[in-house]
Amino acid sequence: MEMNLKIYNSLSGEKETFTPITPGKVGMYVCGPTVYNYVHLGNCRTFISFDLAFRYLKHLGYQVRYVRNITDVGHMVDDADEGEDKIAKKARLEQIEPMEVAQKYTIYFHNILKQFNNLPPSIEPTATGHIIEQIKIIQDIIDNGYGYEVNGSVYFDIEAFRQNHHYGILSGRNVEDMMSNTRTLDGQTDKRNPLDFALWKKAEPQHIMRWPSPWGDGFPGWHLECTAMSTKYLGKHFDIHGGGMDLKFPHHECEIAQSEAACNETPVNYWMHANMLTLNGKKMAKSTGNNILPEELFSGNNDILSKAYSPAVVRFFILQAHYRSILDFSDDAIAAAEKGYERLFEAIESLEKIEAGTSSTFDVNEWTNKCYEAMNDDFNSPILIAHLFEAVKFINACKEGKAGLTQSDLNLFTQTLKAFVFDVLGLFKEDECDDSNETLDNVMQILINLRNEARANKDFQLSDQIRNQLAALGIEIKDGKDGTTYSL
Ligand code: AMP
Ligand code: ZN
Repeated sequence: MEMNLKIYNSLSGEKETFTPITPGKVGMYVCGPTVYNYVHLGNCRTFISFDLAFRYLKHLGYQVRYVRNITDVGHMVDDADEGEDKIAKKARLEQIEPMEVAQKYTIYFHNILKQFNNLPPSIEPTATGHIIEQIKIIQDIIDNGYGYEVNGSVYFDIEAFRQNHHYGILSGRNVEDMMSNTRTLDGQTDKRNPLDFALWKKAEPQHIMRWPSPWGDGFPGWHLECTAMSTKYLGKHFDIHGGGMDLKFPHHECEIAQSEAACNETPVNYWMHANMLTLNGKKMAKSTGNNILPEELFSGNNDILSKAYSPAVVRFFILQAHYRSILDFSDDAIAAAEKGYERLFEAIESLEKIEAGTSSTFDVNEWTNKCYEAMNDDFNSPILIAHLFEAVKFINACKEGKAGLTQSDLNLFTQTLKAFVFDVLGLFKEDECDDSNETLDNVMQILINLRNEARANKDFQLSDQIRNQLAALGIEIKDGKDGTTYSL
């Protein structure tokens, strides 16, 4: 079965048969979040897309090492080479340490992905934990003639790289076109060429996130961390690299260039790009505010929603689209997904009550093959879900006594259905018990009242203790005009 898996490779623009470098094993790297803000539903879509790939590869029997990083330094506002670090900026605005920013939003990220039933990656390295590895790669790039130092910063030399390599191989962009579309440098930068990108930036005196290096105190460029961490944990050449479509250029293009420049080896066999979740037809993004947060969905607390939706339904909504298609979020679309989800789970529940008959009116083998064919065709979850609904129809016919299966067919049918629903798609039964939220609301109200009392008594040690200990559990307390609220 596994020999038939095809993956759309962004590098070739074609679906290719998946052949791992080492038989039976898969190395997969996915760019993780920049932890300076709450992950929005768009980010979650990308991580759910790769969770599906991870789950299916495991289901096929591969031993998968899935590395997904945490970007906690080097990602500048507007993805630029100049200006402020996203995390440092947030730290300045909130008057806390940059590492407090990273910690807070990493906890939030983990908590949300857990609610969506994403499996944790095998390794989750941070950029700040791999400064030494990044410095080593910069040194190799300089030694190989593809990087240069100016005033304590180091840049990647696109002109030199182009002499022996192809810059633009992934994105299909042409260097001459990019050059003519780039404004001439306005003197603020030390780059030789506007397309050159930062490998290391000198830290100005006021810059707090800084590390010593052969080029003075500074911090690494954004693209470099992924090259350093993927190489460290998966080797110079590994199977799959994923991320959202918006990372293809420049981020992934630069990763390829860095690896080739440092190791003279192309790093990745299969590049996978997940498409965007949009809202009102526009990409969901942190920076523009055009986004919806998972917890807004779970609570229904957003004007565009008619009600709350559970994490299980949201996951189902996301998987109903193929990962390479754009998916537009709307209340109608997710309400429709909820109906489908309920129909599927009602059928699964009633499956237990079906008794085997003397003959089969459903070709279980053929149906099982179709489910595998769908997933083998570049992880086509919407087609798989369509086959699952064929199964739902059949189960309902069985309930009415209009269809049946022999015991062995019933066993295979049940096993396949459950494997695809629970193991591969990672779906799960919604928490039916609303009481638990009510209980939590009540408990939280007690804690909020205690904290408010402590503050009124100027016992800030106690009030901070309550807030911080809740934060460590992923529960955030917010003081607003209308009183204090909490969010998970
Ligand atoms: P960031 O934290 O901005 O670095 O993004 C984390 C991941 O989310 C990256 O793989 C992005 O490509 C992805 N991403 C960002 N916006 C969206 C979106 N609207 N839909 C799907 N994925 C997204
Ligand atoms: Zn990356």
